[in-house]
This record gives sequence, C-alpha cells and structure tokens, in this order.
Amino acid sequence: IIKINNVSKWYNDLQVLKDINLEIYNGEVLVILGPSGSGKSTLLRTINGLENIQSGEVFINNEIYNCRNCKALSRKKRAEVGMVFQQFNLYPHMTTLENVTLALRMVKKKTKEEALEIAIPILHKVGLDHKSHSYPSQLSGGEQQRVAIARSLAMQPKVMLFDEPTSALDLELINEVLDTIIGLSMDGMTMVIVTHELGFARRVASRVAFLDKGEIIEIDKPHDIIIRPKKERTKMFMKKIF
Ligand code: ATP
Ligand code: MG
Repeated sequence: IIKINNVSKWYNDLQVLKDINLEIYNGEVLVILGPSGSGKSTLLRTINGLENIQSGEVFINNEIYNCRNCKALSRKKRAEVGMVFQQFNLYPHMTTLENVTLALRMVKKKTKEEALEIAIPILHKVGLDHKSHSYPSQLSGGEQQRVAIARSLAMQPKVMLFDEPTSALDLELINEVLDTIIGLSMDGMTMVIVTHELGFARRVASRVAFLDKGEIIEIDKPHDIIIRPKKERTKMFMKKIF
C-alpha cells in the first residue's frame, strides 16, 4: 500500500535519507528502530508529504504522495495518512469530541451530526467515551494521546504513522496507548511506527527496519532484527538499548 522508491533527502550538505527503498503491504505493521538523528522522523514526514525530497517517489495506493517536484498535498489528501506525534498537539480550548470532529467538519465538510456519528464509535474504540466532554487539561497524558489517535482515525486514513507515540508519557501510561495501537493492528490497519519499546515492537510488528545514518541497514521479522540481527551496526544498537 505504501511504496518508497529511491528516496533521498538532504538538509543543505547533510544527507538524512540515503536511497530508501521500501514497500509496506496492506495491513502490515512496520516498526522503525534506530539511533537519534538517524532520520526516522524525517522518513515518516516524507511518507505523508510533509518533507521535500530531492529524489525518488512515495506512492500510497498507487497515488503519488511525494516526489522532487510534487506540489504540497491538499489537507484532504494528507488526512488519508494519519500521523500521531510524541506531543499530542490537541486544541486546549476544545473538548475531546470537538478535537476529534474538527477536521471532519472543516476539511471533510461533514455536518455536526455526521461528524458525531463517525467520532463516537472511534472514541469508544480508544476507550474514551466517558471523556468526550473533557478538555485536554483534564486528561492524563495517555488519554490525551488516545484523543490524538482518535482524531487521526476520524479522517478514515488508509495508513497510520506514529512517531514515538509514548516517549512523552509516564511509565504507567505507556501501555494504554500501546494497547490502543495493538487494537488497531488487529483491525487490519496499515501502520508505520517509530518506537523504542522493544517488547511492543516484537508483539505488534510484521517487520522491523533498522535505520542508521539515513540508511535502512536491515529489515526483517521482529525476532530477526531484535534478537538475531545480522549486521554489525544493528547488533551494536540492540546491545545498547537492551
Ligand atoms: P530522534 O530519535 O532524535 O527523534 P530521528 O531519527 O527522528 O531522531 P530526524 O529528526 O529525522 O532523526 O533527523 C535526521 C537528521 O536530520 C538529524 O541529523 C537532524 O539533525 C537533521 N535535521 C532534522 N531536521 C532538520 C532541519 N529542519 N534542518 C536541518 N537539519 C535537520
Ligand atoms: Mg525523531
């Protein structure tokens, strides 16, 4: 469903993505591991067209999302790729339900009733029915992150991208967010997830890619990357984070 062909990106003289080739299949969950500065966030932002790239193309469902001379995507098209960040970025003056329905009404031009019809089952799925009328300041970090996930899901994306979705959370709140993501994988959602949670990666990932200095060093089943990596750079990284 996602096809990344020969993608390279530079920031001035610094090459942050080096000829990335990657195909992600429908319903697959790809976890990306790699050291700080290896280009993980840049790769995710490249997939949903937030980054300019200097060569290569990104396709989603055979539609072009990013290329050297591609125009910026419309908001509607970009919403087909859901993205969840480390910081939740909710609107503080809006309730859970308002945060989740905003883009439905503004971008998809749904009526209030239509937007609620979509939002309510999604809030149920992320376990927040009882917090629909709360403001972000009245929610825990884990709940806020689940609102952010619900907000992306409301746009009925074809794929979901997660950039370290639990790294801003206290230890005891991490699992509720990871469980929500595992629930999505069981629904068959195609996802690309940057995380340092190795146990979670082993549970949820169809494949794991190890990225270092802008290059995919190896990509394979979770066990073959996390427990039995073949490449020296992957071995060193796993030793450090275990
Ligand atoms: P982390 O684990 O710390 O989040 P990352 O793997 O997500 O790291 P990126 O944020 O993708 O790494 O950054 C890749 C490289 O690109 C880094 O060397 C970073 O300093 C550089 N970089 C990122 N954004 C910019 C920018 N706007 N201008 C210049 N260089 C940038
Ligand atoms: Mg990052």
